[in-house]
Formats: sequence, C-alpha cells, structure tokens
Amino acid sequence: MLERLLLDVDREVGRILDAALDGRELTIPEAARLLVADGADLLALVRAADVARVADVGDDVSFVVNRNINFTNICYVGCSFCGFSRHSDDADAYDRSLEEILDKVRDAVARGATEVCIQGGIHPQKDHTHYRDILVAIKRRFPAIHIHAYSPEEIDFGHRKSGMKLGDYLLWLRDHGLDTIPGTAAEILDDSIRQIVSPRKLGRERWVEIVSAAHRVGIRSSSTVMYGHIEKPEHLAEHFGLLRDIQKRTGGFTEFVPLGFIHEKNSLYAHMGARGGSSMAEDLRVLAVARLFLRPWITNVQVSWVKMGPKLATLGLLAGANDFGGTLMEESISRESGAGFGENLAPETIRALIRGAGRVPVERSTTYAILRRFDDPALDPPSLEPDAAQTLAGPGRMRAGAKLTRLERPSSAASA
Ligand code: SF4
Repeated sequence: MLERLLLDVDREVGRILDAALDGRELTIPEAARLLVADGADLLALVRAADVARVADVGDDVSFVVNRNINFTNICYVGCSFCGFSRHSDDADAYDRSLEEILDKVRDAVARGATEVCIQGGIHPQKDHTHYRDILVAIKRRFPAIHIHAYSPEEIDFGHRKSGMKLGDYLLWLRDHGLDTIPGTAAEILDDSIRQIVSPRKLGRERWVEIVSAAHRVGIRSSSTVMYGHIEKPEHLAEHFGLLRDIQKRTGGFTEFVPLGFIHEKNSLYAHMGARGGSSMAEDLRVLAVARLFLRPWITNVQVSWVKMGPKLATLGLLAGANDFGGTLMEESISRESGAGFGENLAPETIRALIRGAGRVPVERSTTYAILRRFDDPALDPPSLEPDAAQTLAGPGRMRAGAKLTRLERPSSAASA
C-alpha cells in the first residue's frame, strides 16, 4: 500500500526533490512548486527534507534557554496583523521602567537563561537613547547575558531619530551591549503584500539594508517569514530567495524561523480577507521547503512552538527542522493575537518533546554554540507525548518520494 502511495508522487516534484538531495540549489519556481505539494507529494517533500536535515546537521535538536521581554506595547504603526499594540491612552497600555526590565532579566538569569530577547512597539515619544539605555542597564548588571534585541523596524526608528549613519548607529548599539537582532518585521518581503498588511512599516529594501548593515558590523540576526494570510506560494518562494541571497553575501543569519499567521484577534483576518492562519500541512510544507531551498547557506531551521503548539512543533522536527527555539518564559505578541499555546516551556519539557521525536536535545547559545548535550535519556523525564511524532520517527518507518533509492539513502544527500 505504502509503495503504491509513493509511486503516485508527481514526476516534477520527484525531480525537484532529487535535485535538492543531490545538492543543487533549487530555483524560486521550484520552491513555489513544492509549496503547493499535497498528498503523496507532501509526504515525499517531508521525507526529503528529513533526509537533507540528517545530512546537514545530524540528529541533534537544539534549543535556547531565553526570556522574551516586551518593554512597551505602545505603538502607532498599525500593522493589520498585530493584536499586541496599544495606544498610550488604552487601559492596558504599558511602558516598562528600566527597573521593571531588570527585574525580568534577573528572574531569567535565576532560571538559567543565557539570552534575553527584547522587542517592543514603536513608541512615538521614545528615541534611540531609550534603546541604548536598556542595553546599558542590562549589561551593567548582567554582563554575561546575551542581548538579542530590536527588530529591523525598531532599528529603523532609532536610526532615523539618531541622525547617525546606519553603520555607525549599529556600531553604537553594539558598543552599548547589543549582541544580535531578531530578523522579525520581515513578514513577507514583498512590497505589494506589505502595502496591505503593514503599509506604515519599513519596506523590503530598507529591511534588507538594515539586516545587511548589521551583518557587516558583526551583528548577526535570525531570519523569519510570516505566512498563512494573503500571500501566495510565489511570494513565499521569492522571500526564500531573497534570504538566501543575503546569506550568500553576508553569512550573518543564524537560523530561519517560519512563523504562521495568528489570525484570531486582528483586522487582517477580521476585515481584510486574510486566510485564517496556516494549516498543519502548510506548516510542514514551509519547514520542508526551507530546509531544501536554503541549504547549504542557512542550515538551522527552527520550529515555533508558540505558533504551532508543542505537538505540531515536534512533528516539524520530522519535516526538516533541527531547532526548537527558546523557553521564552514570557510571550505576549502571539498571545495577544490569539495564540493559545502558553508563554513558557521549561527546558525539561522541551527536552522531553525532542526525545519523543527520537532525537537528541542540545542546549545552545543564541549563535548556536553547543552549551550542553543531553545524550543520556535517563537524565530526562519520560516523553510527555508518545504521539504521532514518536510513531513517525525512526529509519524506515516512513518512506516517501518518487525516487526511492535517492530518498532512502541519507548519506547520499548533499553535504555542501
Ligand atoms: S507588529 Fe510591531 S510595528 Fe506593527 S503594530 Fe504591532 S508592535 Fe507596532
């Protein structure tokens, strides 16, 4: 039965998957074709991505012990997908003091965090000195903590207020404690889409300019995409192509993180005709295409448990992903848009979920240095979810692909 299913894989999809496993860079139209794979094609895609993942990064699944800190939710940019932002006179608007921020960092450090991820709304009364003051206050008290902070939108805002050249402004932030930046505010890097979902946010070229400049001065970043709203597969494929081009030039991306649109509490879905977020198949498809398209340039592909939920995120580890993201400890951006998967996953829980997918948990730094391996399952609690991920894990359990010989041989996949 399974063999019959595999023979049903579309000839073109089989050819593209073979090319990817042979180490040839996929084209943007090929990525767009894979982004509509379903049925047997989707199974083949997922299996091929898993084979590529083994060749690229092995069986380790990394995670980082970190804490999100959103220092203000006051923002006037007005992105249509955002359920987080508030106007300053809203009852639940907040603007955290430096002491409040430090309390959160102190708590994070006490809980073993190696990173704080700091982002906020674009508060019209603030300027670049506020961003600096947060960095200085944290590094003065907690010099060892890694500060992963300020999206390109925040960098754009602070830079325009500063009057400095962009490179100088980034160096100034770095010298005051900025270590890396999140590659958020990317959404879809296509201005026709951005004009609809976030018309007052920075455009594609400015996003590229900021991220490239950051990489040039030694500030690395993640890379992201938001999908499941009004974009088409072609937009996603172009977005992948742009990220790959940047990475070829700068080598500054640490990972790629696909972020499914959370639709429950925002106008993009309620009033503007967006899809109601991504389907499970779409989540797996995007992870798998990311693995195959971005290799060998970006080899860390992260699942977002906040967007997908821990169970589906675990399944994503079988679709090309090799990183489980962070503990977060606190998360309000997705929650306030309607995500219901909580704000914190303890390191033990993440390890158990990874173990449940048949993989080896590894604690990492923000820039993917291995801090601690958990080779011995006896050190972990038993898997919390002996679910579908467990069932699908393991060599030979799930074969897929038009060219079985190629897809069955992990060692034949490209190592470039
Ligand atoms: S996504 Fe960011 S910039 Fe846009 S409205 Fe929300 S907080 Fe403001």
